Amino acid sequence: MSAIHCVLQSVPLPPALEQQLSAACAQRGAPLLPPGSDPGDSGDHVTVLVTHASAGASADMIAQLPALRAICSLGVGLDAIDLDAAARRGIVVSNTPDVLTECVADLAMGLLIDVARGISAADRLVRRGDWARSGPPGPATRVSGKRLALLGMGRIAQAIATRAGGFRMEVRYHSRSAKPELAWRHEAALAQLADWADFLVVACAGGPATHHLVSAQVLQRLGPRGFLVNIARGCVVDQTALVAALQQGALAGAALDVFEDEPRVPPELLALDNVVLLPHVGSATRETRSAMALLLLDNLQSFLEHGELVTPAG
Ligand code: NAP
Repeated sequence: MSAIHCVLQSVPLPPALEQQLSAACAQRGAPLLPPGSDPGDSGDHVTVLVTHASAGASADMIAQLPALRAICSLGVGLDAIDLDAAARRGIVVSNTPDVLTECVADLAMGLLIDVARGISAADRLVRRGDWARSGPPGPATRVSGKRLALLGMGRIAQAIATRAGGFRMEVRYHSRSAKPELAWRHEAALAQLADWADFLVVACAGGPATHHLVSAQVLQRLGPRGFLVNIARGCVVDQTALVAALQQGALAGAALDVFEDEPRVPPELLALDNVVLLPHVGSATRETRSAMALLLLDNLQSFLEHGELVTPAG
């Protein structure tokens, strides 16, 4: 006999997922508190919190839910969930890994090629009518055969490295641990990796341990012919140092899907033509978003029925 549950959805989710969530809870007789509802007394009964990677679950929120036993999050990043606060209370956490890996890796390669070849910048030039007025842009930077450094060597970084093989790029990486089973070379010092690289792609986890790991010094070592791509978390890069490096010509360009204070983008970046700016759309394809939604529902249903998650994090 399954336990009695109450589910709190703390953030708005895609409409189709909200409908499925509501149906899954109704089928199991679990009340569903929608976002914006004041949990009030019901907060005492909430056993499952449904959230997404950007909103997460703070220590304060966890403390307000004394009966909480599971957090089901849409997305793979865990940096906005206070995992220590959850662990202290024995609260289990699920995310939606693997199903988004390929699309995020596709976007990383798209950003890398865009910033190196100046695709978005050339598109802007054509739209302004400058092709007819002053000719095509000057030569850009070659991608094939270049040196690709990855910060992180998890699921997404490995998918990027595999794609880079198709471009005959040489790949090295920096992560907490070396992975001798992989074909790519581990570099113990990020600054030395930046010295070597033509492109540095940030693909590691966010959170305090990686905060500003891409520092002013790392950017300086990447140098005026180096490009930065970030598809991980804005907080991994010192954004102020990045803006300064770009303005001074100390970095060739940057392509960013994530920012330190989303959705705010520094106006200085908007003024630069050698940057590509995206609104955190790494996993945003119909196919991947629907696979993520199904995995979140699988986790929720499994917990409501058996008290176990399908993809527990950590
Ligand atoms: P993953 O498989 O867990 O890989 C995380 C990697 O980060 C691991 O290689 C890990 O190193 C490395 N890492 C963690 N702490 C580090 C540190 N202090 N120094 C150096 N490396 C460190 O995660 P994933 O599925 O590849 O996802 C990576 C990140 O991408 C997520 O955490 C998320 O924030 C971001 N993401 C962004 C989007 C988007 O829309 N732009 C979408 C999905 C995910 P070890 O291997 O040594 O442990």
